[in-house]
Amino acid sequence: MKNLIRLVIAATLLFASQHLCAQYSHQICKDAAGDDVAGKTTVASPLEDAYDVHHVKFNLKVTNTTNAISGDVTTTASVVASSLGVYAFELDTAYTIDSIYINGTTATWTDTGSLHLVNLVSALPMGATFTAHIFYRNLHTFSFFSGNVGIRCNPTFYNLFQPTTFTISEAYHACKWWPCKQSLRDKIDSVDMWVTVPDSLMAGSNGKLLATISVAPGYKRYEWKERYPIDYYLISIAVANYVDYSYYMHFTGSTDSLLIQNFVYANMPIDTVERNAIDSIGLVVDYFSTLFGRYPFWKEKYGHCRVPYGGGMENQTMTSLGYFFSEIASHELAHQWFGDNVTCSTWGDITMNEGFASYCAFLADRHFYGHDATMYYLTNFHYFVNTTIPESVYRSDTSSETVIFNSTMVYDKGAAVIHMLRYILDDDATFFSILRSYQSVLAGRNASIDDLRQLTEIYTGSTVNGINVDTFFNQWFYEQGCPRYNVRWYQSGADVWVKLIQSTSVPASVAFFRTPIEIKLKSATGDTVIKVLNDQLNQVFHFNWDRTTDTVLLDPEKWVAYRLLAVGKDSTLTVPDLSALTITVSPNPTTNKWTVNNLPIGSDLMLTDINGKVLWKRHTEEENVNISANQYPTGVYILNITNCGSRIVFRLSKF
Ligand SMILES: [Zn+2]
Repeated sequence: MKNLIRLVIAATLLFASQHLCAQYSHQICKDAAGDDVAGKTTVASPLEDAYDVHHVKFNLKVTNTTNAISGDVTTTASVVASSLGVYAFELDTAYTIDSIYINGTTATWTDTGSLHLVNLVSALPMGATFTAHIFYRNLHTFSFFSGNVGIRCNPTFYNLFQPTTFTISEAYHACKWWPCKQSLRDKIDSVDMWVTVPDSLMAGSNGKLLATISVAPGYKRYEWKERYPIDYYLISIAVANYVDYSYYMHFTGSTDSLLIQNFVYANMPIDTVERNAIDSIGLVVDYFSTLFGRYPFWKEKYGHCRVPYGGGMENQTMTSLGYFFSEIASHELAHQWFGDNVTCSTWGDITMNEGFASYCAFLADRHFYGHDATMYYLTNFHYFVNTTIPESVYRSDTSSETVIFNSTMVYDKGAAVIHMLRYILDDDATFFSILRSYQSVLAGRNASIDDLRQLTEIYTGSTVNGINVDTFFNQWFYEQGCPRYNVRWYQSGADVWVKLIQSTSVPASVAFFRTPIEIKLKSATGDTVIKVLNDQLNQVFHFNWDRTTDTVLLDPEKWVAYRLLAVGKDSTLTVPDLSALTITVSPNPTTNKWTVNNLPIGSDLMLTDINGKVLWKRHTEEENVNISANQYPTGVYILNITNCGSRIVFRLSKF
């Protein structure tokens, strides 16, 4: 009850904070002030693919007034190539490597920039497990926002932040603070993080805090352990004068609980909005657990470390967060499922992290704050429709982090496309079943956009509600652009026609998007919404509605990402003069069937014999209709076609 009351309070504050949230929304998980390193599709050296990392043990000494750190890191790995003669790893050139031990024996190495090659005395065979123990130190001090994104420090009070040293490793910055293999697909089975800090400070990290031990006068060591698989870029530390603001949440329908552990600044009280966001995050954990399956790391914890950062970073089990707002807090929490538990297979598939996290923040806020307060999310997701940027959600170009983390394509359009996937399924039970399968089948592993397609097709088959799933994924994730609509409408009596004229924003990529879409007819005495399948470039829909339409809205709930070019009345859509149309019936005479072509939308057909006896009737929205003649004896028949009072008659023969 306490949290629910706070949520109501938070809801009243939502509008005030929206503008501020928007400022941060495009910095979520990737700080624009960070440096922009070259991308790569593989590890720094193919030699790194010769081993599989199982465990990493950190033993670091850190304070909050400098990001110069020192320590040693032990990697336990096994050989997956036919043999391993060289152990390759990355560590930034800012560091001095003092010594390296392979299986406890001193080794020599060579340096090529940040790539280091350790010579093994004798090659290890496939399957052999080994340890690489590396001692290193960093005597340089990087200034705040210097571009050394891997490990940052603001040594003095800065805005609302206290002196803090913290790490942000996505995408290629882990090597700026520890010797590592930066491979998305080699998840580390478990991590021990030991961080020694001055007594006045605390160190937050991944997993469970097993112990805090005094190690020397004035110093203590935080010993964290992460037992779930973790990607290299999700390992983190944050060191500051923190206090622990923690509580337990309980999963609905279970006696299991989860520690929500937050390291907030001492002597700097969190304000009401922030406290609401922290206190509410347990409810969001529970809500996401009902949607996607239980919080993946529930045997450890979830929490936040406050850091001087313009957004948040979803470090596994302990997000690093600059400001506690519901949108960003939910976004980073959602990453624990989409990003941490299931990590994008390649940086090209980054929307499997960011599109989903952005979409989940919308889901959470819609659940807790309601429909009207969250329509702005969809407006933001659709921002790209105002552009003709020839880019796709899938990042075929991963040459730089700026290109990879394109907020318009990856975060916003990615979220919009996930929302559209839900729309074409037209069944939330199926949509969330797919997401729960995604989380359970791929737990602790990686996934691509195509993995999501394959999983979807297991549930839907190749086609769902008239939409080919493969085409949908191809057009919306891999191709470019969106539909553009010119909407024409007219009403005569109870007949309403709506014509959708579709063009596309990048026709060279996609010339036509087949999509369901809703049409809302508004009147002074009530509204109605009709969902149609737009499967032609120029398509007229006919509705019977006995109220006087004053406005026609396309897609009022913003399910579909499209750009509206124009909407207006068009009297040419009025009652068709059938005699002026080129309706044909062929073959005539026939032996087995007649085909009627070029019918106007919403025609009524009636076949009678020569005496007026009705043999067959149909109302159709199609342009072409087949009429079987097999069952009728040889003779003459009359086909009446009517459409809104206009009538035409054909004399047909069967022989
Ligand atoms: Zn994110």
